[in-house]
Amino acid sequence: MEVTISPLKVLVYDIETAPGEAYVWSAKTRFIPHAMMKRQPFMIQWSAAWLHGGKVMSDSVTPPDVTARDDARIVESIGEMIREADLVLAHNGDNFDIPWVRGRTWANDLEPLGPVASIDTKKLAAKDFYLMHNNLDSLLEMKLGRNKIKTDFSWWRDIIEKADSFDTEGCQKALDRMERYCRKDTRDLRDLFKTMIPHVARLPRLVDADGSMVCPHCGSMDLQKRGIKRTVAYNYQRYQCNDCKRYPSVRTNDKLHRTDLRPQ
Ligand SMILES: [Zn+2]
Repeated sequence: MEVTISPLKVLVYDIETAPGEAYVWSAKTRFIPHAMMKRQPFMIQWSAAWLHGGKVMSDSVTPPDVTARDDARIVESIGEMIREADLVLAHNGDNFDIPWVRGRTWANDLEPLGPVASIDTKKLAAKDFYLMHNNLDSLLEMKLGRNKIKTDFSWWRDIIEKADSFDTEGCQKALDRMERYCRKDTRDLRDLFKTMIPHVARLPRLVDADGSMVCPHCGSMDLQKRGIKRTVAYNYQRYQCNDCKRYPSVRTNDKLHRTDLRPQ
């Protein structure tokens, strides 16, 4: 039998944003009213890669875009990637990246994102792992021995202030430095997620199998039976995938009958 296995298009991505700018009377200001805002935050870069292989892609504002605080072009380009994806994956994406892209899409009058199915690695770590910290730095260090590149606020200050003083070359250099950092985050996040796949409690389907017996997470056909899982309504034959180690299951129709009493 011909088996068609199609990995879903899972987009691993990260965005970098520039801070808003405001007038303040005091360093202790805790709330800045709208009237004291000078400039709204805007997106400066994104990087993305498909989970199942391929290079890291990225896009960045240009120095004149920074001067104009204009992120429309790169918000549009990440929006296109997100619309093309079956699933998007980011660290803290549900609370940060997705609403950020939606908000800038709205502000710039661009094509709406539509429904977005997501995997948020921060939520997975928080729910399933009970670690001391769930930020990307600590997960990368703990699991892959990798340190995030150290950034400080001068990175953002350089981008904005050099653009505002029309130092195009200086601004471009600062943008390039930020883009390397952003691309590394996506690469690291993709590697980190792969280490999480066997261990997290629940994951959406990552592979379409077209009716054949393949693992919905990695596409492997090397599956072995691992007992029956019972729910109120159905029985399921459980398997373990010998490649990704997860436990997919399939509903069995031969165990329960319409006349079987249900448990209370
Ligand atoms: Zn598998």
